[in-house]
Amino acid sequence: MHYDVIIIGGSYAGMAAALQLLRARRSVLVIDAGERRNRFASHSHGFLGQDGMPPGEIAANARRQLASYPTLTWLEGLAESVSGQVNHFTITTAQGEAHQGRRILLATGVADQLPPIAGLAERWGKTVFHCPYCHGYELGQGRIGIVGTGPLSVHQAELLTDWGDVTLLANGIVELNQDVRSALKRRAVTIEEARIDRIDGDADVVMADGRLLRFKGLFTATRTVPSGSLATVLGCAMEETPMGMQVRTDTENKTSVAGVFACGDVARAPHSVSLAVGSGAMAGAQVHRSLLWPETVNPIQTEGGIP
Ligand code: FAD
Ligand code: MG
Repeated sequence: MHYDVIIIGGSYAGMAAALQLLRARRSVLVIDAGERRNRFASHSHGFLGQDGMPPGEIAANARRQLASYPTLTWLEGLAESVSGQVNHFTITTAQGEAHQGRRILLATGVADQLPPIAGLAERWGKTVFHCPYCHGYELGQGRIGIVGTGPLSVHQAELLTDWGDVTLLANGIVELNQDVRSALKRRAVTIEEARIDRIDGDADVVMADGRLLRFKGLFTATRTVPSGSLATVLGCAMEETPMGMQVRTDTENKTSVAGVFACGDVARAPHSVSLAVGSGAMAGAQVHRSLLWPETVNPIQTEGGIP
């Protein structure tokens, strides 16, 4: 079978794209390793019509609906390597199976690089978050701690004052010059300069000097990087955003490699389920368009001749 499209990543973005292509009766192979970025959280917020639903339930419901389209092939597993070029891509899975496709759509999401603080990773998505729109409301305007990781933490602290009483834990990492201090003062953010030793209890921060600071919830600005190496192996140009690294795309979801498209968190910031679904829906239509009119398959140009 030579598929019209192979979609790598079958979460919100990948499934939204698949839906458009399946409804156009195109043959679609979705390969999905099942590691959605929000798998650590029990509830998803801010996605219209699905507010407060378990994130796995939103995905499972979507997958059930996709399964009724006969041109879908779904493979659980990891796409490990990729070769070939437009109209003739080959994806090899970790199980060693090879699959051919005319187009590749990367919907692989991103990985969060968490600050290396004892007790933080275990609480990720439970009492430690990154997105105020996703998890701020539920904290009921209680005390919020911002675990500092860099310049973005100042912005995060200012923003979160609409959700509670905010303390910025600079942890020796966030630069606190006079401008920063005045900005934080304007938004009534408390600055804590001491180092963090660990996180305890629900969201209690134990400082290196022994003090215990109690919070209703913690936020931290993670750095995100594309999950896996397929985009790099394909030679897709990358770009930096304030949140991290992403695959460079244009408004039609094209990458710098002909026939390779990207959508969702891996291709755009900021990140949310709604935005991933919107991006996926757009990508599905654009991939379809490139199949109908092959002359539109030309990749985006990147200055400096990045492949
Ligand atoms: P993902 O959902 O991350 O899915 C990518 C998929 O691709 C995964 O299934 C992965 O296994 C698969 N994959 C990757 N590489 C390969 C490969 N090589 N082969 C096969 N499969 C592969 N957003 C909200 O709107 N509301 C919330 O409440 C919310 N809460 C969040 C809580 C936490 C803790 C985090 C970290 C994020 C939260 N988000 C929330 C953000 C949301 O999770 C992301 O924006 C969304 O998941 C992006 O969707 P996506 O389809 O682009 O990527
Ligand atoms: Mg996806």
